[in-house]
Amino acid sequence: MTRYFKGIGASPGIAIAKAYPLKSETFVPEKRTVDDPEREVERFREAVKQAQDELELIRRQTEEKLGQEKAEIFEGHLLILEDPELIDTIEGNIRDNAVNAEFALHEASAFFVETLLQLDDETLRGRAADVKDVCGRVMNRLRGTESADLSGISEACIVIASDLTPSDTAQLNLETVYGFATEVGSRTSHSAIMARSLGIPAVVGAGEALREIRPGAWVVLDAEEGVVVADPSPEELEEYRKKKSRYDARKAELAKWVDRPSVTQDGHRVELAANIGQLEDVQKALDNGAEGIGLFRTEFLYMGRDRLPTEDEQFNSYKYVLEKMNGKPVVIRTLDIGGDKELSYMELPKESNPFLGQRALRLCLTRPELLRTQLRALLRASRYGNLKIMFPMIAVLDELLAAKRMLEEEKAKLIEEGAELAETIEVGMMIEVPAAAIAADQFAKEVDFFSIGTNDLIQYTMAADRMNESVSYLYQPCHPSILRLIRMVIDAARREGKWVGMCGEMAGDETAIPLLLGLGLHEFSMSPGSILPAREQIGKLSYGEWTALADRALQFASQDDVQTFVRQQLSGGDNK
Ligand code: PEP
Ligand code: MG
Repeated sequence: MTRYFKGIGASPGIAIAKAYPLKSETFVPEKRTVDDPEREVERFREAVKQAQDELELIRRQTEEKLGQEKAEIFEGHLLILEDPELIDTIEGNIRDNAVNAEFALHEASAFFVETLLQLDDETLRGRAADVKDVCGRVMNRLRGTESADLSGISEACIVIASDLTPSDTAQLNLETVYGFATEVGSRTSHSAIMARSLGIPAVVGAGEALREIRPGAWVVLDAEEGVVVADPSPEELEEYRKKKSRYDARKAELAKWVDRPSVTQDGHRVELAANIGQLEDVQKALDNGAEGIGLFRTEFLYMGRDRLPTEDEQFNSYKYVLEKMNGKPVVIRTLDIGGDKELSYMELPKESNPFLGQRALRLCLTRPELLRTQLRALLRASRYGNLKIMFPMIAVLDELLAAKRMLEEEKAKLIEEGAELAETIEVGMMIEVPAAAIAADQFAKEVDFFSIGTNDLIQYTMAADRMNESVSYLYQPCHPSILRLIRMVIDAARREGKWVGMCGEMAGDETAIPLLLGLGLHEFSMSPGSILPAREQIGKLSYGEWTALADRALQFASQDDVQTFVRQQLSGGDNK
């Protein structure tokens, strides 16, 4: 009988093969008294040494296969084995209580894993898996047992496991392992990150029932839907085979566009950039052919932790993104907290209309230290790439001027402190409040660029809370009122010789793209997965034609009419 297991699609794709369930053995060592604790400590040290040699080998192999960055996971593992807190706890226990090394290791490992799992920070919680992985490796050396050797799997299969350690994942034989599914894990667990780098489909967090899948049972791994299907019927199997071929064919088709410029048929060039929220997204942006980062939502650096990130922590994150983008433009938006985004460790005022309250720059201007720390980190990182700083949620000119003043003051202080900054750093603002769109001509004199945040611009223009399902029908990116505002913004910027981007969801919407192109939008920033389809679409459009068509579209009275018009034009209709 077919069984379905719902999890999280952690690495995209569809795989079909027979199940290869890994046995998950939980070994609990017996407590023994040893006669010579010093000799036991020596035995433990020897096991650590062997584990270090193994890890060094895996580190080197990973570096060759996946590059330096992924190999860093194993540098982290090697550091765990040098951590005095862990090692001293184990050796102290052996010496003080004359217990066997296996028992001391098990106790310390369980304690550290448990402590990490109780932390609020998701990243730190994720490190529990690393400690478990490393301690398991030392335990294997002590017991003389082998770590599972996944490089030796010789039949085509889908690996099913309780969890996969990063070292398991790095060793997968990609010739034969078509994908994997785990009972536990999240999108940010290391095995998920590694799966994305290896480019194999993975579903994680599919639940304990996964262990009931028999070895050799047919399994479909649909990471698009985040589902594992065991023992599909012949008809289902056939359907999934067709879905897989469609997916693979489309992927191959889109891959052709990765290194190409974003140019229309008549030679008009635009920039397709990525929206990111965390450091890990940068690689995804590059893999999808992003020509820049159009929006780094920095609030995610502040979330999922128990205190504000320090200036140095922020500096390191910004430097990482800038260096990784290697000179391509990177627009970093200052903190946009408030609305639906809260920080558990910061007492924010309770408001009855949070989206209309002290959000983003409004909040930062009342807590200047928050913004100043971020600006200093940004300025210090500026020399590592092509940084552009962007302020969110501006309604009136005074807000922009206050933010710019703070930026100038921090710049002056840093220069006085002898810091080296980039020579030019463009400063821009988001257009997401209708007041700013209407007065765009005045703002355009004060910034280097605009980026239109349509998610908010639409909610504020339509007076329809973006979180309220019952008014979601008013999210109408192609409504003439929204298109007219966008045109006003682009025209105002153009008159001042400034460029305009868009980082709201609308920028990746295939019906909106031809219109935005025709209105003269320069940069389209979207989720990485939308970039290649957008580049393919733009390659088929004529800028000249769509300039005229956009003019006509703005005269319709409803979004429906606009969308019908655009679709007719795209399908070669005669409504010209
Ligand atoms: C927007 O409002 O369109 C935007 C990109 O910002 P956010 O979605 O983060 O509010
Ligand atoms: Mg916004």
